[in-house]
Amino acid sequence: MATPQSQRSINKSAAIVIPLFLMGSVGYGTWVIVVKIAVEYLLNPSQDLRRIGINPRHGAAIAIIVLYFILLPLMAFPYFRTLQVIWMDPGYVPLGQSSEKDPNSAWDFYNKDVFVCDHTGKPIWCDKCNNWKPDRTHHSSEVGRCVRRMDHFCPWAGGIISENNMKFFLQFCFFGALYTSFVTITVAVLLAERKRKTGGDVQATWAVALALAAMCCLFSVGMSISTFQLSMLNLTTVENLNKGNAVYRLAVCVSTSAEPPSAEPSSDRPTSTQGNGALPGQFRQTRQSVTHTRQYTVLQTEPGENPWDIGKLRNLQSVLGEKWWDWILPIKYSPFTKHDRADSHFEFGPVVTNLKRKAGLLPPDPKSRRRHSRRHSGQSEHRSHRSHRSHRSHRNHRHRSSDTGALPTPAWKGGETFQEV
Ligand SMILES: [Zn+2]
Repeated sequence: MATPQSQRSINKSAAIVIPLFLMGSVGYGTWVIVVKIAVEYLLNPSQDLRRIGINPRHGAAIAIIVLYFILLPLMAFPYFRTLQVIWMDPGYVPLGQSSEKDPNSAWDFYNKDVFVCDHTGKPIWCDKCNNWKPDRTHHSSEVGRCVRRMDHFCPWAGGIISENNMKFFLQFCFFGALYTSFVTITVAVLLAERKRKTGGDVQATWAVALALAAMCCLFSVGMSISTFQLSMLNLTTVENLNKGNAVYRLAVCVSTSAEPPSAEPSSDRPTSTQGNGALPGQFRQTRQSVTHTRQYTVLQTEPGENPWDIGKLRNLQSVLGEKWWDWILPIKYSPFTKHDRADSHFEFGPVVTNLKRKAGLLPPDPKSRRRHSRRHSGQSEHRSHRSHRSHRSHRNHRHRSSDTGALPTPAWKGGETFQEV
């Protein structure tokens, strides 16, 4: 079995050889499709071929050339965009200066309302890069760096697939599957025809092109299906490895308070609170002479829950973009690369909303309350009356909450499960 070091050197070698092999194969396939098949077989067959009934077919030749030169750039452009991002910046997290965990450098995390944390409520630290890891960051052993939303190390592209080139990689896989399917079917059909009409004449150049196209077709169809499925679930390949058992600890901001400037020297420093451990993270920062104190609590997802799942269509839109042309053209980066959200590094989905509800940090779900109420209304009249009163009192409670624009009284009590009252 390969050791991690030998596996890394294999990957690095493959990352140089396979892109060259791919480009050579595409060049060879273009020569076979355009010159050998479209021109020499369909447009202008030899006298020997004409004698056995293979006549010029201009329509078929032009259709093949046009389709080929539509599909080729659709596949090639996202591939070169993927390579460009790999060479420029797949989303490396800067290297830290010191192995000391400097809390001052974690200010970006404590500006967010929710971030992935360790059991103490602090962001995740990478002791190889000496820096904090933003949500969904993974340390790549191949390049020795932390990479944002790292997906995998791809030998086909010769580098890291991550948040900056995930969209281009998905487009490359999809159009690569279309392109290689087109080449495979075209060469296979015409090769079979030629063999039948000539009584067994198999052109070696055609056969090699067919074998290469069929092999790449198998890979690209498989990769496009799996990449599309993971994008639809908003999972990276790294996250998917442990999908069933993955548990995320999330530091969730429970309160923000502004204090007047104090005589003490300000320290942008997260501190652990003592006591029952209900509020493990506390962060003070000074902005415009006012000290803001943000308190965090740690909530934990159930095994297998994906906190970033925001629904299949929106998951795909977060990778590919909002407009249909964004899905096709490899120009804009994925919307999630902007990192302009104030509340978190990536948008969180219903899993986090439900976690906050269970912890009493959000009011109960009005929909579930209505369902609850409807279930009661189908029972005896006496019980229905009681249910109605109960429902009304809930509504009053909600109304009061919205009047003040504040959440109901924080119900976090030393880590106890919140009981609805
Ligand atoms: Zn790292």
